[in-house]
Amino acid sequence: TPYREVDVHQLLDSTLVMLTHKIGDGVTVVREFDRDLPAIPVHAAELNQVWTNLITNAVDAMHGHGTLTVRSSRDNDRLLVEIGDTGPGVPDEIKDRIFEPFFTTKPVGAGTGLGLDISWRIVVDKHHGALSVESSPGSTRFLVHLPLVAPSE
Ligand code: ADP
Ligand code: MG
Repeated sequence: TPYREVDVHQLLDSTLVMLTHKIGDGVTVVREFDRDLPAIPVHAAELNQVWTNLITNAVDAMHGHGTLTVRSSRDNDRLLVEIGDTGPGVPDEIKDRIFEPFFTTKPVGAGTGLGLDISWRIVVDKHHGALSVESSPGSTRFLVHLPLVAPSE
């Protein structure tokens, strides 16, 4: 099994490093990590794809200027990672559709519309977690809940 106990903060840190150029100088990155959280069983490469998708979306939404917040905490029997941005938000009328494959509001060629679909499959289907969004104008955050114990497969 590719699942192994991993410190999610290491994954988040390495994804942020990998995306340094994409994030750019105009975006302030705020890390609010609860470093006492335990390592959890994850497929590290797949979970890195989730962080990459969510952080890329956040930076795209802010058009290079704003604050990216990456937060971790414990939520009962799950670990919670929140990726927040200060972009314009997800309009209510499309909130139900953004997780659908090929749904995108980006110009042709700029977005495949697959990032959130893939993230959903990795978080929900493979890790038995949850993926959701809370958004209002000027403040958006994607919430990733992950079980603290191994999925039984
Ligand atoms: P893509 O990034 O290729 O458009 P995604 O599946 O990653 O595809 O995202 C789908 C759509 O969800 C985006 O086109 C955008 O409309 C919306 N979206 C995703 N993340 C954000 C965000 N942080 N702020 C505002 N809108 C977002
Ligand atoms: Mg995307």
